[in-house]
Amino acid sequence: MRFILSNIGNFSKGRNGHKITRGYFHRTAVKGDTAIGEANYFHNHCVKASWYKIIDLDGNIVQSVLPTDAAWATDQWDENQMSLSYEFCGLNGSPLTAKQIKAVVADIKADRATKGIANHRLTLGEIKLRKVSGWGNHVDVTRAYSIQGGHTDAISEAEIKQILAGIK
Ligand SMILES: [Zn+2]
Repeated sequence: MRFILSNIGNFSKGRNGHKITRGYFHRTAVKGDTAIGEANYFHNHCVKASWYKIIDLDGNIVQSVLPTDAAWATDQWDENQMSLSYEFCGLNGSPLTAKQIKAVVADIKADRATKGIANHRLTLGEIKLRKVSGWGNHVDVTRAYSIQGGHTDAISEAEIKQILAGIK
């Protein structure tokens, strides 16, 4: 596992007492990027945004923030403090590659930081109440909290199903 620390201005130290109970999936929405290329960019630039791990089209994974720190990933402060965010390289609306699915399943199973996340697809209603543990898309947070100008990146429902089946 490569670890390339995100720029110090891109995340917060600690989680303010929150446990990790949720995981969110993201798309970079950029064409032709690699995990290492994205990680280096976030290392070298203060963009006031970050993610936990990134997985490129070939299944390479790079970690960018410690699980004990809160990445600025979902446009919503409490969700950032209680979640981990997996970023997938590739355009919005394009399918994940088989290597990306294989890599994320293997990573979630191996990473002890994900152990407190239930094998459950979060609904929009559950997100805002902050009681139920599970997995969702970045766009779900934007919709659940009606965040103006919030990000709408997501992977498909079929892909979430495949991931949750894989980590069972
Ligand atoms: Zn996102």
